Amino acid sequence: MSCPRILIAGGGIGGLAAALALRRAGFEPRVFEQAARLQPVGAGIQMSPNATRALLQLGCGEHLRAAAVAPESLEVRSWNTGRRIFSTPLGERCLQEYGAPYYHVHRADLHAVLLKALGQEPLHLSARCTGFVEEDGGVRVDFADGSSQWADLLIGADGIHSAVRTAAFGPERPRFSGYAAFRAVLPAERIQGLRLQRNLTSWWGPGRHFMHYFISGGRQLNCVAVVPAKTWPLESWSAQGTSSEFLSEFQGWHPAVLEMIRATEQVFKWALYDREPLPRWSRGHVTLLGDAAHPMLPFQAQGGAQAIEDAVVLAGCLSRSAGRPREALEEYERLRKPRTSRIQGVSRGSAELFHLARPVQVLRRNTQLRLTHRFRPGRLAHRMDWLYAHDALAEASAAAREESTHERH
Ligand SMILES: Cc1cc2nc3c(=O)[nH]c(=O)nc-3n(C[C@H](O)[C@H](O)[C@H](O)COP(=O)(O)OP(=O)(O)OC[C@H]3O[C@@H](n4cnc5c(N)ncnc54)[C@H](O)[C@@H]3O)c2cc1C
Repeated sequence: MSCPRILIAGGGIGGLAAALALRRAGFEPRVFEQAARLQPVGAGIQMSPNATRALLQLGCGEHLRAAAVAPESLEVRSWNTGRRIFSTPLGERCLQEYGAPYYHVHRADLHAVLLKALGQEPLHLSARCTGFVEEDGGVRVDFADGSSQWADLLIGADGIHSAVRTAAFGPERPRFSGYAAFRAVLPAERIQGLRLQRNLTSWWGPGRHFMHYFISGGRQLNCVAVVPAKTWPLESWSAQGTSSEFLSEFQGWHPAVLEMIRATEQVFKWALYDREPLPRWSRGHVTLLGDAAHPMLPFQAQGGAQAIEDAVVLAGCLSRSAGRPREALEEYERLRKPRTSRIQGVSRGSAELFHLARPVQVLRRNTQLRLTHRFRPGRLAHRMDWLYAHDALAEASAAAREESTHERH
């Protein structure tokens, strides 16, 4: 069979990673992105070892390393006193135990790294997918300008409000979590006086939290803070905020937190949505990937990481099942859905744990964590093993080997 035509709707982290993984597997995918130019939100992103491992496998190691900051540890502090609740080593430990680094990256840098490896040629901009029709053993993909493209396979990597998902499974609104995030990136020199370490630091306060880490080789500081929000109109799920609005949400917090907020200039507000796990991701010759398939709250910092894992597994499944795309999509879904559904659930659980508001609950949580940190620190560090030690590519290959042994017997 000649090389199948694979069309990816959406040029975010997931769409670009999928295109790259497919290219490396010998396919010639094309990415159709609605925006006129790729302009990810001005914010940082954490890439945990499960994601960096996949990015290294995709040949992005060198450029990623140059753009990233590797945090030494995760430090969780109390909102007003700054007293440490617990900490977990990341830098060297991640390399030794998971064989891959933990990185903090500016989203624009991550896009640039993926694009550098992929090349511009597969990318089509100003192409908003509006839906698809199954025809001639494949799919006709329709675009907002009235044009259409025929493909053997359509991958919907078009985010939480996915048009491909709606066309495949019908409309359904995502669930508003009751939280909104403030996000800002500021030049590191503005907060030099704070002498911040190269850590991932999270300050936990009643009902909200504030997190910061360095990106862009240490030249910039990324701040992300989550606050309760009663309602949010779906139509404007991200909006421009102001430093004073940001500050007003953190009255009475530690002076270091207030200094970081005062140093911000451009502030974004982001409504936090997720969905229940979908019963299925694929229909015929169409499948979903990343937030289109499994949008999750950001409290495990895994949405982008899971999109990258999806990408390498999907490419692996397609390359093994040449000429049998439906089987490949079934295998992809079987391999990926249990893990991403679990992370969706755990991320919801973390929303509660991070944002306890009643003083008695906060005291109980902090005391338990301090005691665990003191007497069983390994327990805190290893609680993330199931996420960070995962090698998506190896798991997919092992599954394929198992299947072929099964078929031979
Ligand atoms: C506050 C916050 C912090 C986060 N922190 C982390 C973190 O630290 N680590 C982590 O791994 N994840 C994190 N995430 C999650 C992560 O940002 C997302 O999971 C990730 O961006 C999903 O990638 P995606 O490519 O699936 O979707 P998106 O990033 O949403 O990309 C979708 C792309 O599709 C395009 N598109 C949309 N509709 C169409 C259409 N109809 N036709 C064509 N193109 C279309 C969009 O323009 C966009 O370029 C965070 C999320 C939030 C909100």
